[in-house]
Amino acid sequence: MPDDVVQRISGNLARVEERIAQACGRVGRAREDVTLVAVSKMRTLEETKAACICGIRHLGENRVEELADKAPALAKVWAGVLPVWHMIGHVQSRKARYVVELCQMLHSLDTLSLANRLENQAAAHNVVLPVLIECNLAGDVGKYGFMTCDSGSWQGLSRALNGLIAFPHLLIRGLMTMAPIVSVPEEARPFFRRLRELRDYLRKTAPFSDWAELSMGMTDDFEVAIEEGATMIRIGRAIFN
Ligand SMILES: *Cc1c(COP(=O)(O)O)cnc(C)c1O
Repeated sequence: MPDDVVQRISGNLARVEERIAQACGRVGRAREDVTLVAVSKMRTLEETKAACICGIRHLGENRVEELADKAPALAKVWAGVLPVWHMIGHVQSRKARYVVELCQMLHSLDTLSLANRLENQAAAHNVVLPVLIECNLAGDVGKYGFMTCDSGSWQGLSRALNGLIAFPHLLIRGLMTMAPIVSVPEEARPFFRRLRELRDYLRKTAPFSDWAELSMGMTDDFEVAIEEGATMIRIGRAIFN
């Protein structure tokens, strides 16, 4: 393991941790209430292992194929505590099995048909899969996630989500969103705030879950996301570049 890779990532990580601490401090939140998911997509096995050496405990991938390559490969070369794997990208229904076998949380549940497939696979594997509901708050047609751009759509979403009670092998833990690409982080704030408001709405209208987790915030906007209540941030570039 070349030291420079470990060194680069550990320096990056220290800077990210400093920024997380400052964001938490600004709004009186505890650091341990925010889970840092290091997004290792498109990074080599060596870089991914280096992140583990630097103390990363949560890794995220956005493609099933890459997760299927990397998770078993890492387990062979990394003798320490295995990371928790998060699937954060769109999953085609026919690949549901890999999600159940390879990751410990899915952030991107975006259709009821995927939920149905995951339920069947999780039941077959005799596991319960923690999942987050991906929300498309900007109404971006090219993006995945349940359309939640206006409050009028929330009632229908709530009704649909209540149907997930029929899926005992899915543990609904909260919501996930990707803010649109903006020029300054502050412009992402309304979307993060909106996700929190949607969470509060679901706590009343779909109380089968406590909706504890809000997965929001990436390299360019994670501090704003933390200020708005993110419990999980997904960071790639700031850790690996
Ligand atoms: C790539 C990716 C991230 C991380 O993005 P960075 O800007 O590199 O921090 C977070 N979430 C999802 C869904 C991603 O695909």
